[in-house]
Amino acid sequence: MNKNDIEALRRIVGQGNVLTSPEELYTYSYDGTATWQHAPEAVVFPENAEQVSKLLACANERRIPVTPRGGGTNVSGGSIPIEGGIVLVTTRMDRILEIRKENLHAIVEPGVILGDFNDELAKQGLFFPPDPQSFAGCTLGGVVAENSGGPSCLKYGVAKQYVLGLEVVLADGRIMKLGGLTPKNRTGYELAMLFTGSEGTLGVITRITLRLIPAPKANATIVTAFEDIAVAGQTVSDIIAGTVLPSKCEFIDRWTFDKFRGILPDDVLAASQVILLIQLDGLPETVAAETRTVEETARKSATFVRVTENQAEADGYWAARRAHFSDISNRTHTLVNEDVSVPRDKIAEFIRRARESADRHDVPLSLAGHVGDGNFHPAILSDVRDREHYGRAMKCVEEIITIALELGGVLSGEHGIGLEKKRFLKQAMDPQAIAVMRRIKDVLDPHHILNPGKIWEPPDAEG
Ligand SMILES: Cc1cc2nc3c(=O)[nH]c(=O)nc-3n(C[C@H](O)[C@H](O)[C@H](O)COP(=O)(O)OP(=O)(O)OC[C@H]3O[C@@H](n4cnc5c(N)ncnc54)[C@H](O)[C@@H]3O)c2cc1C
Repeated sequence: MNKNDIEALRRIVGQGNVLTSPEELYTYSYDGTATWQHAPEAVVFPENAEQVSKLLACANERRIPVTPRGGGTNVSGGSIPIEGGIVLVTTRMDRILEIRKENLHAIVEPGVILGDFNDELAKQGLFFPPDPQSFAGCTLGGVVAENSGGPSCLKYGVAKQYVLGLEVVLADGRIMKLGGLTPKNRTGYELAMLFTGSEGTLGVITRITLRLIPAPKANATIVTAFEDIAVAGQTVSDIIAGTVLPSKCEFIDRWTFDKFRGILPDDVLAASQVILLIQLDGLPETVAAETRTVEETARKSATFVRVTENQAEADGYWAARRAHFSDISNRTHTLVNEDVSVPRDKIAEFIRRARESADRHDVPLSLAGHVGDGNFHPAILSDVRDREHYGRAMKCVEEIITIALELGGVLSGEHGIGLEKKRFLKQAMDPQAIAVMRRIKDVLDPHHILNPGKIWEPPDAEG
């Protein structure tokens, strides 16, 4: 980008909304992903859709890459400006425009922080279930663009189940409105779904209409521990087969046991390989009955089962679970964090084969995740500076992905493809589907200015 380009951006959003110093650009050169970094040439903070429209029209005319960014918390390299150009940050478009309890909808700008949104909803007894554990920093635009999940998605589904409508600015600056206020809407193609999970490659989301649900009236947390990790996996399948659908069912392996010291007995932690943390919610009587069923199932194979007595105790366990990602990230230079999802009747087999692969390649593997919906975050603790170790870690990653696909699973449950997983796309997706996605990209963004380098390898690399 040259001086004229930067001046054009300043004319659109104002002097104070464009960053260009090396220190400022460095801040926007990475996201939540361990292994990718690339600085943009300018960072812009539009304040409304009209400014986004002018920015994209200008960038499109000048063929400048634009990488949309919310909180920058994604873990697939999605908001790294790998080809330079502009990082377009939505955090100054952060108004909750309306929350309508009587219609169970909210209209928001994309830069609203998920945690702030949840706080507002809680005041009105309402609930937006997608709960990526980065809720304190991620934006609703990012949640929709990643089609994010989280623990509560086991019972309530992922972001796409809550998108009623979107306003999107296309690559050439045209503003498009999709969907509406009603949960039923059979008007034409479901285009809002096309942009949900599109990782900033098809348009910039500037307004979101979300479906809400009433907050559950009661909940209960059951903490269980197992001596054998595969037995814990089988117990999850057994709980689901018992026709109880917990609202959360999370898997924490020994790597994060330190976070449970003081809240679980030492002898339990010493003797166990994995903790399963389960939450049930709904009407008080339903929660009580389902708690009994889950407790009975867990007692058949767990070495420790405890139904928590109050919310404060439950909160302690959930806080320890949330600490998992930062905890293992702090234990190593490079955390290679995967996101495969397998059918729930294949959980135990996946665990066994993934661990065999890690043993074979002699790499430390953590296997935490949202196990209730079969979504694992196998994380290998490696160091990219040690090429030999990192090479073994990559071989293990390839095997784990292959195992998940062989079991009928998917490459990414909730983190998206971004930069991190695009080399596996061909293995994970029908070539016809990839060809159709490419054609959609060509139609909506013919000059490929929007988040270039993401999701696809160049055609020659894909063969
Ligand atoms: C500690 C931690 C825990 C996490 N836990 C979970 C979890 O439990 N479940 C889960 O699903 N994910 C989880 N994530 C990853 C999750 O995808 C992101 O945290 C979040 O959803 C992204 O929001 P963001 O605002 O940070 O988006 P960013 O990281 O800024 O962007 C994500 C992608 O969306 C695009 N984008 C952002 N805003 C827009 C917009 N307005 N229009 C178009 N494109 C846009 C970007 O270009 C990028 O491709 C976790 C991440 C961390 C660091």
